[in-house]
Amino acid sequence: MNDYLFDTLAIRAGHQQSSFQEHSEALFLTSSFTFKSAEEAAARFSGDEEGYFYSRVANPTVSCFQDRLAALEGAESCVATSSGMSAIMAVILGLLKAGDHVVSSRSIFGTSTILFTNILQKFAIEFDFVELSDLDAWQNAVRPNTRLLFAETPSNPLTELVDIESLADIAHQHDAKLVIDNCFCTPALQKPLTLGADIVVHSATKYLDGQGRCLGGAVVGDKQTVGEEIHSILRTGGVAMSPFNAWVFSKGLETLDLRMKAHCENALALAQWLQTQVAVEKVYYPGLEDHPQYQLAKKQQSGFGGIVSFVVKGGKEAAWKVVNSTRLLSITANLGDVKSTITHPASTTHGRLSQQQRDDAGIDDGLLRISVGLEAIADIQVDLARGLSD
Ligand SMILES: *Cc1c(COP(=O)(O)O)cnc(C)c1O
Repeated sequence: MNDYLFDTLAIRAGHQQSSFQEHSEALFLTSSFTFKSAEEAAARFSGDEEGYFYSRVANPTVSCFQDRLAALEGAESCVATSSGMSAIMAVILGLLKAGDHVVSSRSIFGTSTILFTNILQKFAIEFDFVELSDLDAWQNAVRPNTRLLFAETPSNPLTELVDIESLADIAHQHDAKLVIDNCFCTPALQKPLTLGADIVVHSATKYLDGQGRCLGGAVVGDKQTVGEEIHSILRTGGVAMSPFNAWVFSKGLETLDLRMKAHCENALALAQWLQTQVAVEKVYYPGLEDHPQYQLAKKQQSGFGGIVSFVVKGGKEAAWKVVNSTRLLSITANLGDVKSTITHPASTTHGRLSQQQRDDAGIDDGLLRISVGLEAIADIQVDLARGLSD
């Protein structure tokens, strides 16, 4: 199977037909599996014999999604989790212990920061946060007890990047592992493992589903780290993915490449159009030639992604006017959907930060973030133009 190209793997990998020879992937909504005898039950539980026995541990529909995503990321192993957050939690719980240290980018998903600082720090796992693109800062933050480096690239909402290859070198010089949250690009646009990262985490809730239906997550990497050490957190800690959600995500992966190309095309068109609007002060999109890391984005990604952020002149009042003038765009913080969404980060996703923290993170009061969907670009522009005009 792994000789096939991306688009073929997205449609064919992981599908194991049952004895009914169904053409479409079956949905195994079952919590447990039966045994022919006491001997078989014992062999399955002990691991002497391969096979399913309980869906917290493994389920054929979930396996289909896992094997398909592993193929797309170019990995040996994938474990599916109940959400993106439980994927991140499983990585930390599976690989670290009290006294270990993590260096993380400051500009990661807000809930990831809270998981690290408010929850995992209680168990004596230490975290330091650095500027995403500043490789010297990463290097300087590493300590003898550093086990993981954690980053999201491009960042949300300012679309800043880090050079994954260089960051992997820093991690490996210190016997640490590099974890990349690949939610924004998906393997259709960026393959961190081929650039040297050790582990990829996903919120499947976003582009992997692509239509905003289910919560899920995944961890991808080598068999020992992911298939054994991180899987043990799922089977014992219970953060497994539901078979129904896995079925939705497997079908979502079939159109991932097509959708990501279309998201990129719409996002670039929107970013270029926003640059021509007099009410717009600044546009953030890695596909714009004046983006400071345009060359890195071209080298490391095969597309620039679907997230565009921009600052409107006039601060919060002007930004809220744009939000409140929309009739088509959904006012919601979710992203990665075929439906375009609009968010005012300073009062929502970054609302719990102090003004100083927002200033440090570059979250201007006039900043808006659009997850550009697949509606007609002209309709998206009309919807935004209403709030950008006087
Ligand atoms: C949404 C998101 C998460 C968390 O995923 P959930 O599925 O909501 O738990 C993690 N990382 C990034 C980059 C996200 O956008």
